[in-house]
Amino acid sequence: MEEVIRCPYCGAELEELPTQCSVCHHHVELEPWEVVAELSTEWEAELLCGRLRHHGIPAHVLSQRDTTRMFTVGALAVVKLFVPAAYAELARRVLEHEEEP
Ligand SMILES: [Zn+2]
Repeated sequence: MEEVIRCPYCGAELEELPTQCSVCHHHVELEPWEVVAELSTEWEAELLCGRLRHHGIPAHVLSQRDTTRMFTVGALAVVKLFVPAAYAELARRVLEHEEEP
């Protein structure tokens, strides 16, 4: 599946991040990353990640596998969904509308 990244300001397709959008001329930064969701299971996070990517948002899942064992104490939500800060608003809006494909 080919994934496109879309400009968070105008929706134009972007080649890579960071970049300057050729349509609206906004600078789209890749960093800092912002947590938009915390989940207890990896598959849930992957599901949401896939949905965000479907909307052109370069989402990334950080699970316990990628972190130190210090982090996994207890049964709390440990899988985090990150997006570049520029996409945080957009991502939260997408996540609020669960039933959208
Ligand atoms: Zn743009």
